[in-house]
Amino acid sequence: MKIIDIIGSSTPSLSFEVFPPKTSDTFDTVKEAIEKIAILKPSFMSVTYGAGGGTSEFTVSLAKDIQDNFGVTPLAHLTCINSTKEDIQNRLIALKEAGIENILALRGDITPENRDKIKFDYRHANELVEQIRAFGGFCIGGACYPEGHPESPSQAEDIKSLKSKVDAGCQFLTTQMFFDNNILYNYMYKIREAGITVPIVAGVMPVTNVNQIKRICSLSGTYLPQRFKAIVDRYASNPNAMCQAGIAYATEQIIDLYANGINAVHVYSMNKPYVALKIQENISEIIK
Ligand code: FAD
Repeated sequence: MKIIDIIGSSTPSLSFEVFPPKTSDTFDTVKEAIEKIAILKPSFMSVTYGAGGGTSEFTVSLAKDIQDNFGVTPLAHLTCINSTKEDIQNRLIALKEAGIENILALRGDITPENRDKIKFDYRHANELVEQIRAFGGFCIGGACYPEGHPESPSQAEDIKSLKSKVDAGCQFLTTQMFFDNNILYNYMYKIREAGITVPIVAGVMPVTNVNQIKRICSLSGTYLPQRFKAIVDRYASNPNAMCQAGIAYATEQIIDLYANGINAVHVYSMNKPYVALKIQENISEIIK
């Protein structure tokens, strides 16, 4: 099924994100966790793709497993920064052969580790979107950043680039995580004003452990509301309490999003079946 048809329906959608293992040694453990999430029958599941090529080989096989063995629509992420046009063409053939119908088209992060592997066939994700559209047959999504992409000089510039990505053929956009829904509501107003009319899938990250908190704090520009900081201050040293509080915070965010007309919510479930299950249970009546 195409994601555009799932999120275009009037029923609220709840989807989960998973990531492939870094090495084949942990493939079975990761696959098991992913399958426990697939059993929950979310609206769709996205499978990330390693920008440096490390974990990318497993994206197609895990997406296929989710679809063939659990009947859940997969969204395969695909990055282009370290690829040639020919590499991407081969990936598209592999995705088509696996029966995958949805791709989240991304540029990929430029990091010190992958900087020397950049192939320069692509500068931005819009060029990948164009290639996928020309290939044909896929529903194409892209990423967007309610707080602005770190490389953008301004939010206005970022939204202008986003418009070119949508014009190139992006049919929906999934947001970067945010911890204050007002940031998304303000952003929605601005992108709609800029003529971007495609559906927005709101990305929500349940923060359930200290490592995640450290990683988020190191990301430039992510606004952490006082209410969120108070939870972290009080519970970060108590893993079970932090997990419960993080799930509750994300649940509240999700309910508020649905209540304010955002019909598609994507949970960065980070291969944690327990977190996915609890969130789904917490809103079971709301997404019926
Ligand atoms: P782009 O759309 O190319 O934007 C990157 C920057 O360039 C922005 O500042 C933008 O404003 C600017 N820009 C865009 N187009 C133009 C243009 N035509 N001219 C000038 N400037 C332009 N990374 C992974 O490696 N694997 C994943 O699976 C993955 N999944 C993700 C899922 C989501 C929902 C999100 C939000 C991010 C994900 N990322 C993933 C991270 C992503 O690869 C990085 O954020 C990356 O830095 C930007 O990717 P993009 O596709 O948004 O790039």
